[in-house]
Amino acid sequence: MLFKQVAGNQFIKESLIQQVQSNRVSHAQLFFGPEGSGALAMATAFARYICCTNKQASDSCSTCSSCIKFEKLVHPDFHMVFPVNTNNQVKKDACCDDFIVEWRKALTDNPYLNLYDWLKSLGIENKQGNIGTEEGTNIIRKLNLTTYESPYKIMLIWMPECMNLHTANKLLKILEEPPERTLFLLVAESREQLMSTIQSRTQAIRFRPLSDNEVTAFLINELSIENDRAQQVAALSEGNLNLALKLSQETELIKKDIEDFLEWMRFCFKSNIPKLLVWVDKMAGVGRENQKNFLTHAVHLTRQTLLLNLNLPQLVKLSESDKELLKKFSQFVNAGNSDELLAAYDKAYYALERNANGKMLFLDLSFKVSILLNKRVLPKVA
Ligand SMILES: [Zn+2]
Repeated sequence: MLFKQVAGNQFIKESLIQQVQSNRVSHAQLFFGPEGSGALAMATAFARYICCTNKQASDSCSTCSSCIKFEKLVHPDFHMVFPVNTNNQVKKDACCDDFIVEWRKALTDNPYLNLYDWLKSLGIENKQGNIGTEEGTNIIRKLNLTTYESPYKIMLIWMPECMNLHTANKLLKILEEPPERTLFLLVAESREQLMSTIQSRTQAIRFRPLSDNEVTAFLINELSIENDRAQQVAALSEGNLNLALKLSQETELIKKDIEDFLEWMRFCFKSNIPKLLVWVDKMAGVGRENQKNFLTHAVHLTRQTLLLNLNLPQLVKLSESDKELLKKFSQFVNAGNSDELLAAYDKAYYALERNANGKMLFLDLSFKVSILLNKRVLPKVA
């Protein structure tokens, strides 16, 4: 990963380059931000820049032997730790070394991935990802290796939230008395879930959700997606590039989703049970990823519909034709039911990630939505 390939976050890029150029790289850094904000991509670009033997003013060179190893994520001074669990191949005592080949591939394919994507690529999306006790021992062993080629040994720990207490304490000890020429890059989604003593031992860099313009530019420049579609996907993904990458792979899905969504809303509003049963059967058959995408769109469309209801069309992120489609429906989404609708979609999404039965889930959700759409807002007392 080169800096120029990392989406947005220009200010962070510049400050990291500045750290290296002024020879003031702090030995323990915590990059944290929500899914799809690019913290992991940035950390790998940073590590590469530190080790590059022919640094350019604003990026690694791409051609030195260090860069070539980084391109394949096989540099001997760059260690990576990530959550794992047992799967079909590794039946006990799973640790990172067992999955390093899969990890390199997953990270190369999509440096914006989330924990669920990673575990899914190992076929264990229903399990928890752990950074266990044994991993703590491995970290110490790897830090005791001599550096081969670089100014630093770099230890990147992705999702340190998944460390157990024992490993976290071990890490803390190392952070308190760091070995020479060692750099820790912790990459987390949630800073609060880390021990406060680890937080205070690291220099924190916060990543925010990307702006719509940053996501759009990335989709156009890196994936050659046409302008209109890139904007549409950016609006739906709300700053999460991982989601944007997934949505951009689905042609025609977005338009179809608005129509599907409105059809479902009509059946729910009228409590049309026979039609709802047919709809639920259809949804149950489209597969989990499509079901999750549908719910993501439902959240987005509900928010946009509420803005139309509140008469704030200037804030609505939809094309004119989609706006027209939603306008009629907007009288049914209001301040009295929007929070509960959004919470119901979120809850359903969460349950899908944990393999809930799709048919039961969409049936239950349809009944809930039916009640909520028919809820009238109480008139304000004058
Ligand atoms: Zn280089």
